[in-house]
Amino acid sequence: PESKLPALGTTIFTQMSALAQKHNAINLSQGFPDFDGPQYLRDRLAYHVSQGANQYAPMTGTAQLREAIAAKTEQIYGYAPDANTDITITAGATESLYIAITALVSKGDEVIAFDPSYDCYAPAVELAGGVMKRIQLQPPEFKVNWAEFADQVTDRTKLVIINTPHNPSATVWSHSDVEQLWQIIADKHIFVLSDEVYEHICFAPEGHASVLRHPELRQRAIAVSSFGKTYHMTGWRVGYCIAPAIISAELRKVHQYLTFSITTPVQLALADMLREAPEHWQELPAFYQAKRDRLAQGLENSRLKVLPSQGTYFLLVDYSDVSGLDDVAFCHWLTEHAGVAAIPMSVFCAAPFPHKLIRLCFAKQEATLDAAAERLCQL
Ligand code: PMP
Ligand code: GLN
Repeated sequence: PESKLPALGTTIFTQMSALAQKHNAINLSQGFPDFDGPQYLRDRLAYHVSQGANQYAPMTGTAQLREAIAAKTEQIYGYAPDANTDITITAGATESLYIAITALVSKGDEVIAFDPSYDCYAPAVELAGGVMKRIQLQPPEFKVNWAEFADQVTDRTKLVIINTPHNPSATVWSHSDVEQLWQIIADKHIFVLSDEVYEHICFAPEGHASVLRHPELRQRAIAVSSFGKTYHMTGWRVGYCIAPAIISAELRKVHQYLTFSITTPVQLALADMLREAPEHWQELPAFYQAKRDRLAQGLENSRLKVLPSQGTYFLLVDYSDVSGLDDVAFCHWLTEHAGVAAIPMSVFCAAPFPHKLIRLCFAKQEATLDAAAERLCQL
């Protein structure tokens, strides 16, 4: 058939994990933990399966899970979304992002995103007939210049896609960034899709700048999160989105014919976990900060320069003292010859990104981080 996405190949995550496997390299490329999620959560899944909770869940998600999410959201962000009308459970955050884009973007609509940007946004916009306008951010801070953003807004702008804590740069937005975004779009008919999958992996002293904290912006926003990140269960494929009822109603029209509903016993187990073990997400920043620091310290005597990581489970390193290769070639070389797989940054950018930066995932056991650091110190 004629391709609808002719320029698109297989995702970098699939490519690099396959290369890591082929060369038996330590895989710090695709973001996933090499340790298991909480025992209690796994036990609750087995329990609900054994109790026969094995038929379709309600289309929007089980009431137990939506109610638990509403309660947690109120506790953290001081805003209680309506569990019936505002919260939709999806197949990972990926489905939430897809249904939001599909429901909101029409042919010719402009969508603004900030590069480097996570790789699933642009193809969904393209399939919807939208036009991506990508604003390139620069290392090491990857800060948005709000005047430059304002210049990109036109009468055709329908949606802005934001992501904090940010994959792949590991930077975070301040509350003032959210306010500046709001000031620019307040009098326009523009929605905000806010990818907050790392909301609980934020090391910044002022905390995670969720759009849900902003009383006006949240009336126009779809906030997306993922249990894959929060509970170390990327393979369970459960995420959710929170949006005002009139927006959620539109997203649900797509969701009901894309997946209809998400695995019932998994939703019930997640609801139990949210209700019974709030300490898990409360302890997550310290848990991941220790891993970040361990990898960074392990690289202190290497020729790699470590950039600050304020959130996510990623660390950027600059390899310019090691090699003159471009980042894609360097990641291949590193996997094949040094036995460590990483992700090149340029693949997340539409414009040329000539910096010598690669992304390392530190959602790994200490032994894995130490072994990787030892290999990287030999470069
Ligand atoms: N957005 C970002 C920024 C991510 O890093 C990821 C996962 N790597 C996703 C969305 C997708 O999350 P999920 O696995 O829940 O679909
Ligand atoms: N989000 C993960 C990452 O950034 C990968 C997710 C995937 O492979 N789809 O590495």
